[in-house]
Amino acid sequence: MSHLSHADELYLDANATSPVLPAAIAAALDAMGGRFGNPSSSHAAGLRAKQILDDTRARARRVLGAGPGRVLFTSGATEGIQTAVLSALCAIREHRLIGKMRGDTCGDLLVYGATEHKAVSESLAHWNRLLGTGLTLQALPVDADGRHRLDILAELAPRAALVCTMAANNETGVISDLDGIARTLREHGPRAYWMVDCVQALGKLPLDLAATRIDYAPFSGHKLYAPKGIGMLYVRDGAPYTPLMIGGGQEAGQRSGTENMAGIAALGAVLAELEQGTAFRSHADMAAMRDRLAAALTDAFPGIVFNAPPAQALPTTLNFAVAGLASKDLLDLFDAAGLRVSAGSACSAAKAAPSYVLAAMGLPLWRSSGAVRLSFGPTAGDDFIDEACVRIRRCGQLLRAPLLAPSPVSGAAHGLLQVSAEGRHGWIVFDLDAGVGVAIDPPLALAPRIAALMQARGLRVAAVLGTGADAEGAAARAALRTALGQAAADPGPLGWPGDAAAIAIGGRVLARLASSGTRMAYLLESADGGGIAFTGDTDGDNLPRPAALLCHGVDLDGQAFRAGDVAAAEGAAAQLAPADLAAFLQAHADALLVDVREQPEADAGACHLHGRSALNLPLSRLAEHLLHLLATPERPLVFVCRSGNRSARAALALRRAGHAQAWTLTGGIALAQ
Ligand code: PLP
Repeated sequence: MSHLSHADELYLDANATSPVLPAAIAAALDAMGGRFGNPSSSHAAGLRAKQILDDTRARARRVLGAGPGRVLFTSGATEGIQTAVLSALCAIREHRLIGKMRGDTCGDLLVYGATEHKAVSESLAHWNRLLGTGLTLQALPVDADGRHRLDILAELAPRAALVCTMAANNETGVISDLDGIARTLREHGPRAYWMVDCVQALGKLPLDLAATRIDYAPFSGHKLYAPKGIGMLYVRDGAPYTPLMIGGGQEAGQRSGTENMAGIAALGAVLAELEQGTAFRSHADMAAMRDRLAAALTDAFPGIVFNAPPAQALPTTLNFAVAGLASKDLLDLFDAAGLRVSAGSACSAAKAAPSYVLAAMGLPLWRSSGAVRLSFGPTAGDDFIDEACVRIRRCGQLLRAPLLAPSPVSGAAHGLLQVSAEGRHGWIVFDLDAGVGVAIDPPLALAPRIAALMQARGLRVAAVLGTGADAEGAAARAALRTALGQAAADPGPLGWPGDAAAIAIGGRVLARLASSGTRMAYLLESADGGGIAFTGDTDGDNLPRPAALLCHGVDLDGQAFRAGDVAAAEGAAAQLAPADLAAFLQAHADALLVDVREQPEADAGACHLHGRSALNLPLSRLAEHLLHLLATPERPLVFVCRSGNRSARAALALRRAGHAQAWTLTGGIALAQ
């Protein structure tokens, strides 16, 4: 099956969702076309539909090893989890009531693995509150390898009413020791109900549910080549059950609502492939493919650490972090190379927070906030993995290219690089010919990286300066100087070297402007007279000497703007929808497409849109070229990037600086191709 559905795309985010198997698409079409009937109808059309339902359920029972247990169709795992939690809590509530009357003790804990999907912990809290069961939620810690702490489970088990432990983790692939959990529950407590979220296990781990003491096991179709909106729930024979939805009595009254027949038919096709087909690879094949990917990653990124031991993880999942690289940098680069990976779970992809799963494993912040997950499906082919390895190695090579490079526009050997992390923005002024650089307001998190950048170019670091007297700024300067092998202490106020009058950076001179209180501003003057000021705030009007451009570390995303334009700093950048780009470019023959992705990204996948090649001017080098772009204020500029975020910032910076024709392509390059 092709994973290159989108031009040249290698989809390596199978734990988030998978493409739909062609046989599943065909089955869904059949269920919507020739066999569109309602399976509850007794006429021939209904009977034809009912056959799909019965066949799929029979297959599911065999694949899951459901024995005498029930298998019902749901909209997905989240619904399966709700149903299981609701069923268990209703039963627990009843036991507790009867137990109280009889003087029995009943468990009062709802125990869930600390690395469970949020659907589990949130459902427990929600239904516990809604039903008024008044039980206590208790996270079960995991060890450094992500496995449940069975010693702690043994302590909790006597008080446990319901235990929820996933079969395999969606972020790390870590496989739970279900036998160990079952043993612990058997040996250490009265009979707690047990739910095992099996979403990531289907198709990757053997399942024989009726042979276990698992009470509830939810599954999701879209994680294994079926479409979104279909799932299954296994319920052990004899386990309590309360329907989540009541109505027409479908699914033997267990889940009312006309069935999602297209989804069920598609799931049936996947289960058929799993049962009898040849598309799914063996465990050994998948592990070998995973190992090849891991080897390519290790070659590409020497500072890599894997966040879960492969021997205890799904053979299809790798989770890693690279020292000195934010996960966003890696994701941007991989995306440019056509490798679709993620920073963790898809549900939390929009949030910048570090992974709670990795935090629960006790990993340091740089590993939990810098994590990247790479996951493939069991139908992946060897050619697909080979191509992914080639691209991963190429990404590694591209990252090794020096970031302090000559200007991408003029080729001049001097430049100005913006360095940003965690909401703080700093600047590196450098001259490659003269072999000198100065850092201003380096963000603390980037100190080792900035030192490496300077050292890669053999630059003498003439000063590490600050624009404000805050503690974090001082710590960052000390960290950078230490990383550079210099004395940690500021040599003078805010890092200014002794009583130097000015610092020469090749043909340009950096001067100190009179400070206001605890603040300091610096002015970079060049032979052509265009001065650039670095200030801790955005108040350019107070500068004792005028500057053409202000570079600052606060507000306005840290983007540079023209002095005197602070008042115009409000407002949004002009937006260009992807559908309108072709017409816009046709109407404006002189328009310049500017790709503001960083250079390794542009090298991994150059941007050509509607017959035009974009000029690569990384956002981190925009300030240096702002005046040049402003020189032709009538020429339309269309900024583009991966998702539309960075291009919006660039267009806004140009607008603020007075360019009337600066546009951002909304949604990013992917939507315009
Ligand atoms: N559990 C796990 C482990 C998952 O990975 C997911 C999907 O993200 C879910 C539950 C929720 O599944 P669904 O999208 O089918 O509701």
